[in-house]
Amino acid sequence: MAILEKKIYVGLTEETAIQLVKELAFFPIHAELTAKEIGDGNLNYVFRITDQEGGKSLIIKQALPYAKVVGESWPLTLKRSKIEADALIKHGEFVPLLVPKVYETDEDLAITIMEDLSHLKIARTGLIEGENYPKLARDIGEYIAKTLFYTSDFALHPFEKKRLVAAFSNPELCKITEDLVFTDPFFDIDTNDFEPELQSDVEAIWGNTALQIEAAKIKYSFLTEAEALLHGDLHTGSIFASEEETKVIDPEFAFYGPIGFDLGLFIANLVFQSIVRDGEQKEYILNQIEETWQVFYSVFSELWEKEGVDPFTKVSGYKESFLQKIFNDAVAFTGCELIRRTIGLSHVKDLDGIEDKEIRLAAKRKTLELGTSLILRKSDIQEIKGFISAIKEHT
Ligand code: ADP
Ligand code: MG
Ligand code: MG
Ligand code: MG
Repeated sequence: MAILEKKIYVGLTEETAIQLVKELAFFPIHAELTAKEIGDGNLNYVFRITDQEGGKSLIIKQALPYAKVVGESWPLTLKRSKIEADALIKHGEFVPLLVPKVYETDEDLAITIMEDLSHLKIARTGLIEGENYPKLARDIGEYIAKTLFYTSDFALHPFEKKRLVAAFSNPELCKITEDLVFTDPFFDIDTNDFEPELQSDVEAIWGNTALQIEAAKIKYSFLTEAEALLHGDLHTGSIFASEEETKVIDPEFAFYGPIGFDLGLFIANLVFQSIVRDGEQKEYILNQIEETWQVFYSVFSELWEKEGVDPFTKVSGYKESFLQKIFNDAVAFTGCELIRRTIGLSHVKDLDGIEDKEIRLAAKRKTLELGTSLILRKSDIQEIKGFISAIKEHT
């Protein structure tokens, strides 16, 4: 019986993945197809299907009903597959060139069939190898500005906005962020994961009440501020890049949240590179951070002025005031991401991949210091030059 007709979830194998794309007539019935699972297998399967003769290929991403974390399995909703596909499609309306094309989705199987981007490299991998992507900051600044402006109350009828807020309710994946980014790193909780040499640095965070109060406030904004349809997991591992192209993948954490979150996550992941690089290469990354904000600011501003639907968007000074709020949020979200990737459950290779132990520990102490400072100085850092200076001061 055809896989799709069963209308039930079954984990795909390389064989059934091939059967499925043939049933869906993506390839001629007698095509010689090969399939390979290329995901990292913690949360999802990613199959790449290739037609050796025709040269055509595609990707099937399938959600697993559990997450494998520290050897344990946690049940995790399959609904995130539909959220991811719907977010790719919704964001694709505004930035068609910056996301993969979605060919087909199926809620029962929890799959998205999409464009194969294997000619590109995951930005984190390339950056760690010392590559530079001259379009990355510009494209991501534009991606964030357009996807978030067009899904906000500044562009939508309030009925459509509320419909989308409901459609993208994503409580289980939000809970992962709420715990792993905004809560656990600030307390002595056993999901945390850090090198023993950092014990006293980590205890300084756990004992810093002023920091905890500011972390609580920024967590609360994540919990309550339904500003726009966020990507929700916009680190450099969710971005494919080359010198010519940028494509954002993996929006399974999409939900209505504060605009500064996508900015902060992306910027923090560039900060890791600014810490591991020296001299001109460090400057290059700092310039990319600045450019991300500048492009975001100018694209968002222009959309606001030309397409803002709320009468208040015409009131002089409101735009600047709103963008200031986004900026200050982004500063604090950057700080949270820096800390959680250093001492929380999920690390980044930019830091953990540093082989020399002393250099690695020194880099991690910098991210903790900078992260702490950014969270505490959220309202005090007023513009991008000050943000860049704060990064330089601690790195
Ligand atoms: P997860 O949610 O499990 O992190 P991702 O969507 O990030 O899944 O995909 C995991 C990996 O699979 C990516 O790092 C990339 O190597 C590969 N991959 C995902 N989507 C595509 C695609 N459209 N084209 C090519 N490779 C892809
Ligand atoms: Mg992964
Ligand atoms: Mg991913
Ligand atoms: Mg993911």
